[in-house]
Amino acid sequence: MKAVLDHVGIAVERLDEALAFYRDALGLEVERPDDVITQRVRAHMLDTGGAALELLEATAADSPIAGFLTRRGPGLHHITLRVEDLRAALAQLSARNVRLIDREPRPGAHGSLVAFIHPSAAHGVLVELKQAPPPPVRLSVASLTLGSLRLTALHDGPFRLDGGAMFGVVPKPLWERLAPADDRNRIQLAMRPLLVEADWGRMLVDCGVGDKMPDKAREIYALDRTTHLDHALAEVGLTSDDIDVVLPTHLHFDHFGGATARRGGALVPRFSRARYVIRRAEWQDATHPHARNRASYLQDDFVPLEGAGVVDWFDGDSVIRPGVRVERTGGHTGQHQIVYVESGGKTAAFVADLVPTTAHLQDPWVMGYDLFPMETMAFKQRFIREAIDREYLVIFEHDPQVAAGYIRERDGRRVVDQVL
Ligand SMILES: [Zn+2]
Ligand SMILES: [Zn+2]
Repeated sequence: MKAVLDHVGIAVERLDEALAFYRDALGLEVERPDDVITQRVRAHMLDTGGAALELLEATAADSPIAGFLTRRGPGLHHITLRVEDLRAALAQLSARNVRLIDREPRPGAHGSLVAFIHPSAAHGVLVELKQAPPPPVRLSVASLTLGSLRLTALHDGPFRLDGGAMFGVVPKPLWERLAPADDRNRIQLAMRPLLVEADWGRMLVDCGVGDKMPDKAREIYALDRTTHLDHALAEVGLTSDDIDVVLPTHLHFDHFGGATARRGGALVPRFSRARYVIRRAEWQDATHPHARNRASYLQDDFVPLEGAGVVDWFDGDSVIRPGVRVERTGGHTGQHQIVYVESGGKTAAFVADLVPTTAHLQDPWVMGYDLFPMETMAFKQRFIREAIDREYLVIFEHDPQVAAGYIRERDGRRVVDQVL
């Protein structure tokens, strides 16, 4: 296994006195504030170039650091080695009968995963293995030209969903290498509505989650609204008043929650000038939810649009505007559709929850959320073949890093060449 020294932990009696030596006398840079790992330990990291020093002070008599100080006195407490795949590292050590304190990874500071090897196995040194947290969701706004159309991948901030639900029947050891889970088993996701600009106007395909979510749901889905769709639109010089058409792939809250907004107690269309172009059968399903899909269809997201008279209905696979057509995939919801944008002989496909992230390229990697998973798989099998053969630019609405790219086959494996 490849392991890199991350930091060296030193147990100290008093943090301020230790800092007087390590920081002030040695002159090590200190940029980081104290870091409370648990309620009973205060830690302070000092940068030393490659690896760091971590000074550890007990803040309670029953702290493991207090116990260590009583038994051994101050000094070297542990070393931490960073590995790429902690679960694989633990399996490798177990196979060699190395005595472990943690047989399973557990959550460490700042979204990392950690596990300890027993000091008796490491010749008297407590060794911590650490898997670094995944990089934050990439919230970028980027455009490209497709024939006579301009496409911009926007975003409506990050969120998280249960990793098990996102990968259906795929076992966690397989998916977590591609999509690391946090301490609540949630994986990082983005919401990336697509802006299509043409001579007929500006269209949004999906419009994110919006800002109506109650605090409890914000917490469950880890909704961080620091930057959202309004900021993304502003980056290309637009506001929600500049949108002429909103086309949802389906009416789930993470795709269409942004359609309405609360203004002075009333629910109103969020895009003041827009027509909302909605597949009639999806509207029927959304307004008649059952126990299995009720948590995803939030009536406040779409019912007020009908009263405001801003909905244009359509039935079946249709051309919505010149260069923009939809095709029903079913599977995820009964009427889930994907959007093809075509101009100048080129095709981009906004695939929504058919292939939510680049970790879902294999045919059977279908979400547990899907109402009709076999239908998803059949459509996906055909679609991905076609996307590879005809070089579709595929837009991944939920991928935490990749907004758009080309799916290719290399050495029998599917990969994505990132474009946006
Ligand atoms: Zn959905
Ligand atoms: Zn979704």
